[in-house]
Amino acid sequence: MPTVSRFPPGPGSRKLPARHMDYEAVIGLETHVQLRTRSKMWCGCENAFGAEPNSHVCPVCLGLPGVLPVANEEALRLTVLTGLLLHCDIPRHAKFDRKNYFYPDVAKNYQITQYDRPSTIRGYLDFEFEGRVARVNITRAHLEEDVAKNVHFARESGVDFNRAGVPLLEIVSEPELTGPEMAQAYLNALTELLVQGGISDCDMEKGMVRCDVNVSVRPRGATQLGAKIEIKNMNTFSGVRRALEYEIPRQIEAVSRGESLRQETRRWDDDAGITEPMRSKEHAHDYRYFPDPDLLPFEPSEAWKLEVQQRVIELPLARKQRFIRDYALPPGDAEVFKSNIPLGRFFEGAARGHANPKAVANWVINNLAAKLKESGITLDAVPFPPEAVGELVRLVDSGRISGKIAQEVFAEMFASGQRPEAIVEAKGLSQVSDTGALETFCDQAIAANPGPAADFRNGKEAALNFLKGQVMKLSKGKANPAMVGEVLTRRLKG
Ligand code: ADP
Ligand code: ZN
Ligand code: MG
Repeated sequence: MPTVSRFPPGPGSRKLPARHMDYEAVIGLETHVQLRTRSKMWCGCENAFGAEPNSHVCPVCLGLPGVLPVANEEALRLTVLTGLLLHCDIPRHAKFDRKNYFYPDVAKNYQITQYDRPSTIRGYLDFEFEGRVARVNITRAHLEEDVAKNVHFARESGVDFNRAGVPLLEIVSEPELTGPEMAQAYLNALTELLVQGGISDCDMEKGMVRCDVNVSVRPRGATQLGAKIEIKNMNTFSGVRRALEYEIPRQIEAVSRGESLRQETRRWDDDAGITEPMRSKEHAHDYRYFPDPDLLPFEPSEAWKLEVQQRVIELPLARKQRFIRDYALPPGDAEVFKSNIPLGRFFEGAARGHANPKAVANWVINNLAAKLKESGITLDAVPFPPEAVGELVRLVDSGRISGKIAQEVFAEMFASGQRPEAIVEAKGLSQVSDTGALETFCDQAIAANPGPAADFRNGKEAALNFLKGQVMKLSKGKANPAMVGEVLTRRLKG
């Protein structure tokens, strides 16, 4: 496309002129995710990634004539479940339509989708952005089938039908996102919800999430939308962000030069870091949508919907907010438990009814997670129940053991599965808070270190820390550190 004037890439690398402040971007995303089903949408072929090309195919997904599709019920459930997670309405009547087009990736010359009667409509997604909760409205989420994949070799091309007929959910947002970072935050929140909700694995590397990015610009505060540019088939979120970082200034430049932008479809060239025209925008009538005569309308009963309702999970954001509210956790800790459900569940087991949930969270996030990583074992193989961590924190908080000894106890819990109380008892690890015993350690430390002792007596306060360290050593870490300083001072000055 040599006639296209190229806008320089990398907006981060250059400062935008002041006139860009007079415009605002409007972004709407169409996000396609592969549903987590065992089989494909209309046939029994396996829904699997990475298999030998054309090894998961049958007459239905190859689009051979004379066959009939049978809807995968789990895909229908996951679609409605997504609608519920996104606070959508679930219409009583939905149907499947044929979107007609000719291309090697659709052997039957149409893709089955939901056109004017989708399974879920009008919802929203709340997510954190720039330190507050943002809400983006969801227009609809509809079910469709994936198409085959064209593969290009040096001298020829092939078509792999393994992906053909895999159930896809297309989640369409209202044009309410205002910038590249917000678009990325929305995608992160959406996919986190879908993964946790069991809808999709959203594995980007396996092409399970693909996104069409719609973007326009308008004078700041204007109510009318500008001409929509659609950037097709983005398969990484950082790509979405970078494409927008390029495309928004490009449009603003054009509009402020007085050009009127035309609605068009563009392609993101990831290597060059630019978007370029692909085709002028196609219209719905180009596809001659019509109801698929082979498929019944989808009219879920109340009982059926109620069953799906059972699978609704606590939303990640709600869970984070609950952790902050109920356990007074700092947002950073709550964020860890938001994205790691099993760890959060473990934490709750340990912190329920506990006086010091923040300390429990520290143990779970730092010590436990580190141990899991180091040992390679999973959370459900941990040999002690969550309550044991709560007990350990209580032993520290009550002064029975020091933080240092607690580490030792924790390692032992991990090795033997024994409860902290039992370990402290068996190994005699209780902290020495007995004044007589502490005095003996202190006197030993003073006798062995006359220099620092003299320094302290001569007013060098810092020397006390050294002596404290010696006492801890002599007591094998069991001396109550809060008391050691006091006893030492008394012995030295008395
Ligand atoms: P299509 O014909 O491609 O289905 P729609 O108007 O239904 O187009 O919208 C598709 C996506 O484009 C939605 O996510 C919507 O929010 C977004 N969108 C629509 N108009 C604009 C616009 N002017 N600027 C940015 N995004 C838009
Ligand atoms: Zn098949
Ligand atoms: Mg579109």
